[in-house]
Amino acid sequence: MNEACEPAGRVRPPGTRIGILGGGQLGRMLVLAGTSLGYRFVTLDPAPDSPCGQVSEQIRAAYDDEHAARELAGRCDVITYEFENVDAGVAALLERESSVPQGSSLLYTTQHRLREKRAIEAAGVPVAPYREINSVTEMVQAVAELGVPCVLKTTVGGYDGKGQAVIRQPEEAVAAYERLAGSGAELVLEQFIRFRCEISVIVARSTNGEAKAFPPAENIHVNNILHTSIVPARVPESVQEEARRLALAVAESLGAVGLLAVEMFVDENGQLYVNELAPRPHNSGHYTMEGCATSQFEQHIRAICGLPLGSTKLLTPVVMVNVLGEHLEDVVQRFAQPDAEAERLDVVPKLHLYGKSEAKPGRKMGHINLLCQDAEQALEWIEQTNIWGDGKS
Ligand code: AMP
Repeated sequence: MNEACEPAGRVRPPGTRIGILGGGQLGRMLVLAGTSLGYRFVTLDPAPDSPCGQVSEQIRAAYDDEHAARELAGRCDVITYEFENVDAGVAALLERESSVPQGSSLLYTTQHRLREKRAIEAAGVPVAPYREINSVTEMVQAVAELGVPCVLKTTVGGYDGKGQAVIRQPEEAVAAYERLAGSGAELVLEQFIRFRCEISVIVARSTNGEAKAFPPAENIHVNNILHTSIVPARVPESVQEEARRLALAVAESLGAVGLLAVEMFVDENGQLYVNELAPRPHNSGHYTMEGCATSQFEQHIRAICGLPLGSTKLLTPVVMVNVLGEHLEDVVQRFAQPDAEAERLDVVPKLHLYGKSEAKPGRKMGHINLLCQDAEQALEWIEQTNIWGDGKS
């Protein structure tokens, strides 16, 4: 159905068929949550036996295959996506031939760092000071203005620290520029924020404009991959409140529908700077699955289908730890036996595996939500298991 004919805030009741572009773990967890509510799902993904395809119907085709996208649109009343790099042609086709409540303008904004920063600033929300870089002269000038250290990033395609260079001395500016500009990429230079910690807030905004924010998660990365999320984040209550306020302001200003993950730096003074947005379920929101009254996945389904949003109340302190390829075997063994350590520490580990057959190093195979009385005990459980090395990797 054409979006223009769609009445705003139209309710898509349980029973509706939802199409998901992308068949990874985020899609899988959307399906698991939405199926409980009575929705039906079809996913489009090229991989056989994809994590999402194991729990839904699947059309096996490339993401930019317009014929397959048309089939998805024909079989579903509502379409969503679980990754950001949705092909623009496919996005337009789906909007024409079905209903994409999230629209494509938010994707357009978040696919490009400069557009994203400008949109965040337009919402009155701070980002790290930055400069657009189009030449080596601009680069040298910008390093002088922003000072060192600073971070040079490609505006598109970078994730998990790829397409980035940290400049610690002004003399490194030209080499960093040449390395990243070599591929013809557009660049942005950011002041380096000496952050006390990184946090993220997941916001949901529904088709009828209702918006709710989940409690902030404190995120620890190892080798640029999320390792643990700690909730409540270990920052003052006032900073948590401000983080939720800023995330809601960004979602509102961008007219987001569905989930929006807002990643932020907290500096020594408790000042917040938004680093990145993701218009989809986010790894740092997996803690909500048992930690909150409503999971981020259920909330996304509610938001795009126009149901009232669920409570985002935190039910218990929780630490989420990712299970990467190198951790999988030990984790599976550990869960096959009684866990005296968990009992001793009063920690309840809840395992979520994504059904991926090949466990490559660095590949996200699952996660564990550690329900606890005190995050320190969950962190101690992680350390005691020896699965994550020194508790960091
Ligand atoms: P990004 O790809 O923008 O999420 O950056 C990956 C990681 O690099 C972040 O999670 C931070 O740990 C670090 N980082 C990126 N930009 C900055 C910055 N401006 N100041 C300090 N650290 C940064």
